Amino acid sequence: MSEPWSFTDLDSSATTPVSERVMAAMLPWFCEAYANPGSPNPEAERAKAAVTAARESLAEFLGAEPREILFTSGGTESNQTAVRSALRARPDRRALLMSAVEHSSILGLVPDLQREGWRVLTIPAGKDGRIDPGDVARLADHDTALVAVMVVNNETGAINPVEEIGEAAHGAGALFLCDGVAAVGKIPVDVKKVPADFLSLSGHKIHGPKGTGALFVRKGEAFHPLMPGSQERKRRGGTENVPGIVGLGEAARESREFLAEGPRRLERLRDFLEEGVFSLCPEVRRNGPGKSSLRAPHMANLCFPGMPAEKILLSLGREGIYVSMGSACSTGSVEPSHVLLAQGLTREEALSSLRFSLGRRTSFAEIDRTLTSLGRILGQPSARRVS
Ligand code: PMP
Repeated sequence: MSEPWSFTDLDSSATTPVSERVMAAMLPWFCEAYANPGSPNPEAERAKAAVTAARESLAEFLGAEPREILFTSGGTESNQTAVRSALRARPDRRALLMSAVEHSSILGLVPDLQREGWRVLTIPAGKDGRIDPGDVARLADHDTALVAVMVVNNETGAINPVEEIGEAAHGAGALFLCDGVAAVGKIPVDVKKVPADFLSLSGHKIHGPKGTGALFVRKGEAFHPLMPGSQERKRRGGTENVPGIVGLGEAARESREFLAEGPRRLERLRDFLEEGVFSLCPEVRRNGPGKSSLRAPHMANLCFPGMPAEKILLSLGREGIYVSMGSACSTGSVEPSHVLLAQGLTREEALSSLRFSLGRRTSFAEIDRTLTSLGRILGQPSARRVS
């Protein structure tokens, strides 16, 4: 089958295309059934029912109850809602614990939190980028309001032992936020097993629309909205994004189906890629765990010692193969990834590292083509760092 797209997308952790099924589910809700679910008419009832069905789909996907699902504008809003809500729910406490490898949607809050008088403690990452529950137990105490540790790291794919981390957080009486954005749709995430009080996800990482997301809020916990208003049972103000919510509901349904077989295929593709790179260039090292039970199936973060990753990235890009350095980068001004620095890489090693993230439509032919291109690029003397 010929591919309708003209590039090889090995940057699916950045975003994914809206699937055909999701697109078809959303379409009627733009121009035909466009009612505001809060209006007093039968069309509004239909829109409301569609939002309810999407909520049920998300709940089923996560093992939650529908009333524990809050629709948001994405992972960033979900994470920030959870942090702010948790801090208000524990007014007698003044500290927060965040892992050193959290996404910027959480770490970006730190300057404001510190200005407001919160004590923010960092949970260190191990050499494989994983968080040790023992560190959480050591750092959390009667003053800790919230512990934030992601399920899967979005740069290395490292899976954290969130069950034990959650227990350690609760042992100190703190709330537990799991950023699930990089995990859902790639590995099973079930809130009956993960003792999270909050778990965030983002639509555009699972073939849903951008600007959609959800936050699981465990029932029984006091909740404080980031944007007060009457919608979402008074948990989030603003007219519901009906087409987006319907799309997210369908994306969750599709992701559940994908989890049956899809991750195994991704793992085979990833292993083919990694083995190919290691045989092309034996000095390449993996950043993150090697054991497949400790890593998400779609990601390989590789360090090419002595070679500036930006050059490889740009050369691959010129051949229509898109990868990333796991952090925002633009020619001439590349910052090393905070995730890689946190797991002990030097600045130079971090700047020699590339993230390959495979998606549902990645094919073996594309990996083969990538290896051929990499072989050519790495063979050029200009790929080496001039010291
Ligand atoms: N958390 C993680 C781990 C992410 O990778 C991202 C997106 N890069 C986010 C949160 C933010 O999600 P969104 O783009 O939907 O705001």
